[in-house]
Amino acid sequence: MTTRVALIAHDHKKDDIVALAGEYADTLGRCRLVATGTTGARIAAVHGLTVERMLSGPNGGDLQIGAQLAEGNVDVVIFLRDPMTPQPHEPDINALVRACDVHNVPCATNVATARMILDTLTRRIGQQG
Ligand code: PGA
Repeated sequence: MTTRVALIAHDHKKDDIVALAGEYADTLGRCRLVATGTTGARIAAVHGLTVERMLSGPNGGDLQIGAQLAEGNVDVVIFLRDPMTPQPHEPDINALVRACDVHNVPCATNVATARMILDTLTRRIGQQG
């Protein structure tokens, strides 16, 4: 079954998630991708990956992804949060991370963890041939 990966990055982390998506483009290209609005637009434009775009985070995109996750439709979350800048939608961010914990869905909130998860995904997909 196709792995469903959610991609989200706050503004100061967007360059990082675009670089990460490029690094793992082969793997991500074999997954179903969903993202918040601006993050998804950037990844699609730079790497040509197909990304289902939700609303922008501050407009409810994190909640939309959280709802999909709660229904069992997201397998991995890469959520590069900006720990240095207050966000207007902090409750939505916490709700999404909490939903990952409630449903035991792997959630990377920094690049190092994201690489570990994506390395594992790359190996799994490689084994599937
Ligand atoms: P964005 O949303 O990808 O639309 O910028 C991310 C966020 O701020 O949660």
